[in-house]
Amino acid sequence: MTSQRPPGSAAEQTRGKATEGLLDRAVDHALAHLAGLGDRHAAAEATPAELRTLLDAPLPVHPTDPAEVIDLLAEAGRRGTVASPGPRYFGFVIGGSLPVALAADWMVSAWDQNAAAYTPGPAASVIEEVCARWLVELYDLPRETSVGFVTGGQMATFTGLAAARHHLLDRHGWDVSERGLSGAPEVTVLASAERHASVDRALRFLGFGSAGIRDLACDADGAVDPAALRGELERTRSPAIVCLQAGNINTGAVDPIAEASALAREHAPGAWVHVDGAIGLWAAASRRLRPAGLELADSWSTDAHKWLNVPFDCGIALCAHPASHRAAMGISAVAAPYVVLSEQTRDQIDWNPEWSRRARSVPVYAALRALGRDGVAELVERTCELARRFAAQLGGVPGVEVLNRVLLNQVLVAFRADDGDHDTLTRNVVEAVQREGTCWLGGTVWRGRYAMRISVSNWSTTEDDVDRSVQAIMGALRQCRRQ
Ligand SMILES: *Cc1c(COP(=O)(O)O)cnc(C)c1O
Repeated sequence: MTSQRPPGSAAEQTRGKATEGLLDRAVDHALAHLAGLGDRHAAAEATPAELRTLLDAPLPVHPTDPAEVIDLLAEAGRRGTVASPGPRYFGFVIGGSLPVALAADWMVSAWDQNAAAYTPGPAASVIEEVCARWLVELYDLPRETSVGFVTGGQMATFTGLAAARHHLLDRHGWDVSERGLSGAPEVTVLASAERHASVDRALRFLGFGSAGIRDLACDADGAVDPAALRGELERTRSPAIVCLQAGNINTGAVDPIAEASALAREHAPGAWVHVDGAIGLWAAASRRLRPAGLELADSWSTDAHKWLNVPFDCGIALCAHPASHRAAMGISAVAAPYVVLSEQTRDQIDWNPEWSRRARSVPVYAALRALGRDGVAELVERTCELARRFAAQLGGVPGVEVLNRVLLNQVLVAFRADDGDHDTLTRNVVEAVQREGTCWLGGTVWRGRYAMRISVSNWSTTEDDVDRSVQAIMGALRQCRRQ
C-alpha cells in the first residue's frame, strides 16, 4: 500500500486545488456564456474556417496547461455556439436547460458514475428508478410501464421498436434474440407518412428495410387518417407494428391514438402501437392538451432534452410490456461474468441499449422534482400560448400566412410575394432573420410549400421575446420585399 498517499498529503492537496481552480474557471466561463444568451446574435459568429484556425493544430506532443485548454474551449464556445439555450431560439425543436437541470448535470460529471448498473453507481440507479415511476405517472401510462433513459428520441424509438420486434416474433414462436431475422415470420410496419426520419433509421437498425414500410396517409393537420389506417390494416396478414406520433415535427399535430389503437385491435389483433412522442408526450402533463388515448399504445418514445429543458442528451423509452422491453435490451442472454446484476435494485443496462453510460436521468429527476406536475404542465401550456402569440401577430399581417392550426408549440409561416414566387421570398426571409440575429428559426417544406418553422420549446422565452422576434421577422420581410 506504499504507493497510495494518505488523504490530505501535499500531492492530494495540490490536485484538489488544481481541480478547484479549473472548475472555478469553467464556472466563470459558463456563467458569462449564459448571461450573454439574451443579447447576443442567435447564430454562431465564427465561420468553419475561423473555428478551425482557433482549434486545429497537430496532435500535441507535450502537455498544455489545463487552464489554457479550458480558456481555448471557452473561446470556441463564445464564437462557435448557437444561442439555443437562449430565449429567442426557435429552430428545430431544441429546448434549453432549466437552471436546476444544468446544475444537476454538472454534478453528474463530478460524480462520474458508470450508470450501467446499481453496483458502479447506487444513487444514480435509485434516482433513475424513482424518475421512471414519476414519468409513468406524469404521462398517466399503465403503471407497469417500463422506462429506459437513452441518448435521445432516436434511440428511444429504437428501444421501443426493438421491444416490439421481440414481442411480436415471440408471439409467433420465434426468439429473435437467438435466431435473428433470417427466416423469421414477416412483420409488417405501418407508419405515419409524416413520421420523423428517426423512425426509418430505428427500423433500419432493427433489420426492417424501408421498402417494407407502408405509409399511412395524413389529414390536413398532419395527423394519421384513421380511414387510411383501417385500409392498411385490412390488407395486413402478418404481425404488425403501427408507428404513430404525438407531435408532428412541422405542425405539432397528434395522431388519433385512441382510434388507431382500437382499429389495430379490431383488424390486426396483437398489433403493436408505438408512439413517437418526442415533442407531444410532454403535453400529457397538461389536462387541456393531453393526447387522447395515449395510454392505449404499447410503447412510446420521447425526449427530455427538448420540451422538458434538460441539457443534452436524454431521451426516454417507455414500454407497456416490461418483459419484452427487458428481453430486447437486457444482458441476461449475454451476461458477462464480471457484471454484478442485482435482483433488488435497478440495473439500467436491462432497459437501454448502452452499456457504460452517463447518469442521464439525474437532470430529469432534478427538473421533475423542482417543477412538479403543475410546473411541467405550466411550461408546456405557456410555450404553446407563446406559439399562438406568434401565429396571431404574424397571421394578422397582410401577405403573411400561418399554414397550420397551432395545436401545440409549432407554427408554420409563409410570405406572399408580388411576383408569385412565395417559396423564394419565404426562404429569403428565413435567411434574413438568421443573418440579423435577434432570433433564430429554420425552414421546412409543408404540403409542397416552403415555410418558416417556429418552435417554442424554451423555458425562458417570454412574451417580449416573441414580440421582438416578430419585429425582426417583419423587418426581414420588408428588407426582402425591397430587394
Ligand atoms: C427530435 C425528434 C426525434 C429525434 O429525437 P432526438 O432526440 O434528436 O434523437 C424524433 N421524433 C420527433 C418527432 C422529433 O421531433
